[in-house]
Amino acid sequence: MAYVQIQSLVKAFGETEIIHGVDLEIEKQEFTVFVGPSGCGKTTLLRLIAGLEEVSAGTIHIGGERVDHLPPAERGLAMVFQNYALYPHMSVFEDMAFGLRISRVDKAQIRRRVQEAAEILQITELLERKPRALSGGQRQRVAIGRAIVRQPKVFLFDEPLSNLDAKLRVQMRVELIRLHQALKATMIYVTHDQVEAMTMADKIVVLNKGHVEQVGRPLDLYHHPRNLFVAGFIGSPSMNFLPGQIAGLSETGVEVALGGGQKTLVRCKPDARAAKGAAVTLGLRPEDLKPNAPGDSTLAGKVRMVERLGGDTYLYLSALEGADITVHAPGDIVVSAGDQIPIGVSAAKAYLFHESGEAFAR
Ligand code: ATP
Repeated sequence: MAYVQIQSLVKAFGETEIIHGVDLEIEKQEFTVFVGPSGCGKTTLLRLIAGLEEVSAGTIHIGGERVDHLPPAERGLAMVFQNYALYPHMSVFEDMAFGLRISRVDKAQIRRRVQEAAEILQITELLERKPRALSGGQRQRVAIGRAIVRQPKVFLFDEPLSNLDAKLRVQMRVELIRLHQALKATMIYVTHDQVEAMTMADKIVVLNKGHVEQVGRPLDLYHHPRNLFVAGFIGSPSMNFLPGQIAGLSETGVEVALGGGQKTLVRCKPDARAAKGAAVTLGLRPEDLKPNAPGDSTLAGKVRMVERLGGDTYLYLSALEGADITVHAPGDIVVSAGDQIPIGVSAAKAYLFHESGEAFAR
C-alpha cells in the first residue's frame, strides 16, 4: 500500500457532489502537487485528507492506518494555509511552540524543536518578534515552522505562496524545494499555478471538476498529456489548438487537413478510431513552433501582435480562418505586426486529439 492511499473518495455538500470518486496513491517522501482551475476541488481534497471535512464515501489511509474517521489532531498531519493564521499576541517562538504545548511535549524538547526549525528556516533572530513586526515572507516561514516542529507524517500546503509578491514567491518556491529535500518529508501542495506545479512537484495530480484527469511526473505530463484538458493546462503559454480533419494515415503518422487548405504532419500512432475524414484537434506548443524556418510542415500566418519581453518574444498570429496561434520566438527576431510569415512545425512535436478530447498515442 502507498504511504497515502485514497480510494473511491466522494465528497458532497448537501445535494451537490464536489469530489467524484477519487483514487490516488502518494509515496513516502514524495512532493505531490494538486493542480487545477479554480473550483475543481483541490482544497476540498486536501481538507478531506486533513480531516477538516468529513468524507461522504471512500477511504483514506496514511502509513497503512485508516484515518478518514479520525479527528484532524489524531491524523499526524500538519497544514500550512494561504493566510498563515498566526496568533497576533504571540511571539514567533510561542506561536511555533503552541501546538507542542497543547500536546504536552516537555519544555526542553519544545525549545530544541523550535530552535531546529528556526535554523532550517533561517528565522532564529525573529523568535521574539510578534507577527505585526514580520514581512509576508517571514510570516509564511513561521507558519511553515509551526508545521515542522510537529514532525508530521505528511505536510499539507494550501496555496501557501499566493499572498506573496511575484519575486518572493519564486524565492519561497526554491526554499520549499530545499526544505523538502532537507526534511525528506512527504508533502502535498495545492496550487492553481501550473508553473509552481511544474517546478516543485515530484508528482502532479491534475484535477478538473472533482475528478483526476492525469497523474504523473511534470515532464511526463508535459510530453504525454492524456487529453485536451491536461495539454491545455500544463505548459505556459498554453498549447495552441487547431480544428482539423484526418487527411491521410501512414505508418509514421497522420496528415491533418486544417482550414484554408493547409496541411500538417503529426508523428503519432493512429488507432482504430482514426479514419480518414474524422474530426481531430491539432495541438502545437508555442515553444515548438519555428517562425521563418522550415519544418516537416509549414503553416502560413499573419502577425497580429508582437510582444517583446527582452530575451523572448511572443508572436500572436492569425494562422487559419477562425484560429489564432501563439509562437515563442527569440528576443531579437525581426518581425512586425502585419507581416505574413511561415511557421515550421515538427511532426514529432505536434500533438493530436480525438473528437472526444483523448490524445493519440505518441
Ligand atoms: P480555488 O483554487 O478557487 O480555491 P479549489 O479547486 O480549491 O478552488 P474547492 O475550494 O475545493 O476548489 O471547491 C470546490 C467546489 O466545492 C466549489 O464549487 C466550491 O464552491 C464548493 N465548496 C467548497 N466548500 C464548500 C462548502 N463548505 N459548502 C458548499 N460548497 C462548497
